[in-house]
Amino acid sequence: MTILIPVLGDQLTQSLASLRDVDRSNAVVLMMEVADETTYVRHHQRKIALILSAMRHFAHELRDDGWTVDYVRLDAADNTGSFTGEVMRAVSRHRPTSIRIVEPGEWRVKTAIDGWHGLCGIPVDVLSDDRFICGILEFQTWAQSRNELMMEYFYRDMRRKTGLLMKADGKPEGGQWNLDKENRVPPRRGLNYPEPLHFAPDEMTTEVLDFVASRFGGHFGRLEKFGLPVTALQARRALAHFIQSALPDFGTYQDAMVTGQDWLYHSWLSPALNLGLLTPLEVAQAAAAAYATGDAPLNAVEGFIRQIIGWREYVRGYYWLEMPEVANVNALGATRPLPEFYWTGDTDMLCMAEAIRNTRDHAYAHHIQRLMVLGNFAMLAGVRPQDVADWFLVVYADAYEWVELPNVIGMSQHADGGRLATKPYAGGGAYINRMSDHCEQCRYDVKRKTGPDACPFNALYWDFLARHERRFRRNRRMMQMYANWDRMDPAKREAYRSSAAAFLQTLEPAAAGWAR
Ligand SMILES: Cc1cc2nc3c(=O)[nH]c(=O)nc-3n(C[C@H](O)[C@H](O)[C@H](O)COP(=O)(O)OP(=O)(O)OC[C@H]3O[C@@H](n4cnc5c(N)ncnc54)[C@H](O)[C@@H]3O)c2cc1C
Ligand code: SF4
Repeated sequence: MTILIPVLGDQLTQSLASLRDVDRSNAVVLMMEVADETTYVRHHQRKIALILSAMRHFAHELRDDGWTVDYVRLDAADNTGSFTGEVMRAVSRHRPTSIRIVEPGEWRVKTAIDGWHGLCGIPVDVLSDDRFICGILEFQTWAQSRNELMMEYFYRDMRRKTGLLMKADGKPEGGQWNLDKENRVPPRRGLNYPEPLHFAPDEMTTEVLDFVASRFGGHFGRLEKFGLPVTALQARRALAHFIQSALPDFGTYQDAMVTGQDWLYHSWLSPALNLGLLTPLEVAQAAAAAYATGDAPLNAVEGFIRQIIGWREYVRGYYWLEMPEVANVNALGATRPLPEFYWTGDTDMLCMAEAIRNTRDHAYAHHIQRLMVLGNFAMLAGVRPQDVADWFLVVYADAYEWVELPNVIGMSQHADGGRLATKPYAGGGAYINRMSDHCEQCRYDVKRKTGPDACPFNALYWDFLARHERRFRRNRRMMQMYANWDRMDPAKREAYRSSAAAFLQTLEPAAAGWAR
C-alpha cells in the first residue's frame, strides 16, 4: 500500500494538502528537477538557482522529518526531462497503489497530470491547493454571479472570509475598504530605504549556483550576490524584517520609483510566497498584527493585505477561469516584436533602463516598474502580447504562468479586451515624472511632447489613444482623455502621431533565442 506523492517545485510547504494525514511509512515523496521545466522558456539564471536550491533544501527538511524522498536531479543520467516521464519511472521503481498530488499552478502541468492515470493505471488523486484563500471552484462560482469581474468586490469578500482588518460588526477596520487614495505619494529626497534581508548562500546553494552557471550561463540575468531566502525559516525571517523595517511606509510610497533604489518599501516576498515557503495567510496575518500593535498604519497594512488576499488570489482565479484561451488573446491587434533593449537594457529612456537593470541583476522590478514602465511601454508601442508575456515569464524570480499571464495579458497589455481591468493602464511621461526622479536625469525631455528629444512616452500615449479610438472613446474612465484629444489642434495631433511613428521606427526587434 505505497502512496507516491509528487511534490512540485512551487509546492514547498510542510503543510501541503498531499502531505497531511498520510502514514509516512507507506509513502514516497517524489521531487523532480526536469529539463522541460527549466527550459520551456529560458528562465533568468537567478530564478532557476532559486527554485533548485529551495527544492533541495525542502527535500532535506522532509527527510529530517521522517519522510522517504525520492529526489531526481537535473543532471541524473537517466532523467527523462519531463514530469510524466519521471512519475512513470517512479511508478516502476516503487510500485505504488496510488498517486496523490496537489493541483499544479499551471495549465501545462495540469494537462500532463490529467494523462497519468491512463499511462500507469493506478488512481491519481488530485487535491485542491488550499494554501490559496480562494479555491478555483469558489472563484468560478463568484465570477458566474457577476456581469463583470471587479477585483475590489472580490477583495471585500476575501476580507470577510479571512476576518482580516474586519471589525466585530462586519465593517472594515477604519470605515473604508480601500485606502489607495493615500498611497500615491511621490518619493521625496532624504528618505531611507531599507534593504531586504540577504541570505548568504550555504553549501547547497553554492553547488546549485555553480551548476546553473555552467548549464544555464547563456540565459538572461546575473547570479552574483544571490541572497534570496531558500527555506521557510529564512523566508519567515525576511517577512519579519519587512514588517519591521518597510511595511510602515509601504503604502505611502507604493507607486514611487527612485534611480538606484531597487526595492524602496516593497517586500520582495513574492518568490518565497510563490514557491510555498510562506503562505499568503501567514503573510497577511503578520501585517495585520503589526497594525493591531500600532507598529504600522492602516493605509500601509490595508494596501499590503489587498495585494495578497485581493490581487494575488484574484489573478489566480482569473487564470483558471480563462485558460487556455487567454494565453493567445490579442484584443488590441498588437503585432510589433519585442524590442531588443528589453534584453540588453541598452536604451536612453532612463525609466526603462533602470527597470531592466534591476530585472537583470535581481530578477526583480517592483509593481509600478512592471506595470507603468515596462508593460505600459510595450502596450503603447503595440508589442505582441505573447512576446511581452514570454519576457515577463523569463525574467522574474516570482514568475509562474498562473500569476504572470493575467498580470501581463490582462492588467498590463489589455489584450483580453478589458476582462480583468476595465481600463488600460496607459500613461505618458507626466505620470513617470510625478512618481519618480528618473526624468530629471534622462536624456529625453519629459516636458517636450514631440520631436527627437521629447520623452517617447508622450507621443506614444496619444498615438495609442488615436489608434484605439473606436474601442476606448466610450469607456467612462477615458472620456476625459478623448475630450482633451478632441480639443487639440489637428496639426498638434498630427505631430504626435508622426513623432510616435518616427520613434517606433528606431526600435530594433529582439534577436531570436532570448526567450525560447
Ligand atoms: C506586468 C506584470 C507582471 C507581473 N508578473 C508577476 C509574476 O510573474 N509573479 C508575481 O508574483 N507577481 C507578478 N506581478 C505582480 C507584482 O508586480 C509582483 O507580485 C510584485 O512586484 C512582487 O514584488 P514584492 O514581493 O516586492 O511585492 P509587494 O509590492 O511587496 O507586494 C506584496 C505582495 O503582493 C502580491 N501582489 C502584489 N501585486 C500583485 C499582483 N498584481 N498579482 C499577484 N500578486 C500580487 C505579491 O505576492 C507580493 O509579494 C506582475 C505585475 C505586472 C504589472
Ligand atoms: S523622460 Fe520619459 S523616457 Fe525619460 S525617464 Fe522620464 S518618462 Fe522615462
